Amino acid sequence: MAFDWLTDFFRKSDKPVDYAERTLAAYRMGMNAQGAIRGVRVDVGEDCCDAARALPAGAVYHPDSAPRLPLPGCPHGGRCRCAYRPVMDFELPQ
Ligand SMILES: [Zn+2]
Repeated sequence: MAFDWLTDFFRKSDKPVDYAERTLAAYRMGMNAQGAIRGVRVDVGEDCCDAARALPAGAVYHPDSAPRLPLPGCPHGGRCRCAYRPVMDFELPQ
């Protein structure tokens, strides 16, 4: 695919220091704007750390209370592959 290099670039590049703040702020706006976003979950990277694996599986957080990525105990730091994913309305039981 034409954009593989781009995905690869993002995967290998460091997270900006304000990754958590910026991403969570965007999801918070999505929730406030009557969007279908109900919360955020942490998508744990394949080869990521014990700290990430210790998170409750499938937990849905409000952006205000979501754990900050990279997690404090993550040895990968800015290269942590963990990422936030929006949880959409239709994904949750009504
Ligand atoms: Zn991590």
